[in-house]
Amino acid sequence: MTIDIGSPLLLLGRGADPASERGVSCPGDLPPASDPALVERAHAAKAALGERLFVLGHHYQRDEVIQFADVTGDSFKLAQEAAARPQAPYVVFCGVHFMAESADILTRADQRVVLPDLAAGCSMADMATYDQVEECWEVLEDAGIADDVVPITYMNSSADIKAFVGRHGGTVCTSSNARRALEWAFSKGSKVLFLPDQHLGRNTAVLEMGLGLDDCVVYNPHRPDGGLGADELRAATMILWRGHCSVHGRFSKESVDDVRARIPGVNVLVHPECRHEVVKEADHIGSTEYIIRMLDQAPAGSAWAVGTELNLVKRLADRHPDKTIVFLDKTVCFCSTMNRIDLPHLVWSLESLARGEVVNQITVDEETAHYARAALDQMLALP
Ligand code: SF4
Repeated sequence: MTIDIGSPLLLLGRGADPASERGVSCPGDLPPASDPALVERAHAAKAALGERLFVLGHHYQRDEVIQFADVTGDSFKLAQEAAARPQAPYVVFCGVHFMAESADILTRADQRVVLPDLAAGCSMADMATYDQVEECWEVLEDAGIADDVVPITYMNSSADIKAFVGRHGGTVCTSSNARRALEWAFSKGSKVLFLPDQHLGRNTAVLEMGLGLDDCVVYNPHRPDGGLGADELRAATMILWRGHCSVHGRFSKESVDDVRARIPGVNVLVHPECRHEVVKEADHIGSTEYIIRMLDQAPAGSAWAVGTELNLVKRLADRHPDKTIVFLDKTVCFCSTMNRIDLPHLVWSLESLARGEVVNQITVDEETAHYARAALDQMLALP
């Protein structure tokens, strides 16, 4: 028997992965991680670049990197911040690939957006490719419902998917405005195709819009016709793409039961990318910015178990020593692709820019950017 192993495994730092929105190539001589002068070198390169440089840091980034961010935030806030800095020709994005793409779409043509490691992709964004979504739309057309469907894509998707949604009159959403996006979509059509995070789509539809679980179906791009019959598609209100976040998808009902047994009176606070059975058990649900606000405002002495990325939870625990703040799961889990951006990559990209050499530039072609911007603008115009 022969086993088809598909494409050979690629070493990170070499070659390209055609099945991913991210690259894997990172040419150049990275300083060794053990170099004790890295922090000093990052400060020196930043100082040399001065106002020409703007460094953005996502909340899930490592401490060693986030200390050099001029602004921290979630993906949408960071893209807006980049757009509000037209005087900086270099925008270094410490986050993942789809975020850098959004920054490139929203910044001026003469601004260069740099991702310090091209291997910093997002497994959720990779779960919806352009060809798969085109095929799905054909399935909806064959079922005779495409005209009734408004597509919504979560910010955590590639520029190609945002452009697809823009072309079909839909919108982008974030975890803060998903409800408003759904309300708007249901004023335009009777059904929504929600990409790529099934959990955010389901949690918002069921917990915030009053839909039932049986109003939702899951389209599986790896099965013929998404694994759904035309009747099922016609009967559904929410067509959820079968995608999820590998970090938030780890939390389970058992994690909640366990932390409640370990820490009496604990408040369970989770991100809506968590599974429905987890979110239903939580005391509070909200976006990354909501989680930060909630913990900043929590009274001293209160206890919190937080279901989101570990770098952020650790930072919040350090910031609030008067409160008990723990990670919701017993097993620690960082976002492995967010963690690709480390100090050696940051130093390498900053020193390269200081020499006038632009490395790892992220560019979105004009047509894709045009339609993706339409979907992003629609989000900004949500009532
Ligand atoms: S935390 Fe999840 S959604 Fe965010 S970049 Fe990592 S894999 Fe993607």
